[in-house]
Amino acid sequence: MLLIDCPFCGTRPELEFHCGGEAHIRRPERPGDLDDEEWAAFLFYRSNTKGLQAELWHHSHGCQRWFNALRNTVTDDIEVTYRMGQARPDPAEVTTQPGSVDGTAGDVVWVMADAGGERP
Ligand SMILES: [Zn+2]
Repeated sequence: MLLIDCPFCGTRPELEFHCGGEAHIRRPERPGDLDDEEWAAFLFYRSNTKGLQAELWHHSHGCQRWFNALRNTVTDDIEVTYRMGQARPDPAEVTTQPGSVDGTAGDVVWVMADAGGERP
């Protein structure tokens, strides 16, 4: 069973979570100014990345909070989870620091998915 590290609760089985799709998609500031093609692109077009992809996850059977995760779409491994509002961690740091308890990227503190210890 896949284990997911909720940034608020710690490691829990995947059955407690739901994926909300790709993360870091901004709603247009003035949606009324968009034409149909631009609006459709916002609503439906996603990157569908092969490799590390930032996704929204909801701990629906736990703390009920949303957070982001970098999931490898090839292996289905969740490399790192981080709170909403934090910048996406640098994938190079995620892949070059396996097993780190936590790290920093600018003013962002994130937690490795397979690490224990304190939460930011
Ligand atoms: Zn949680």
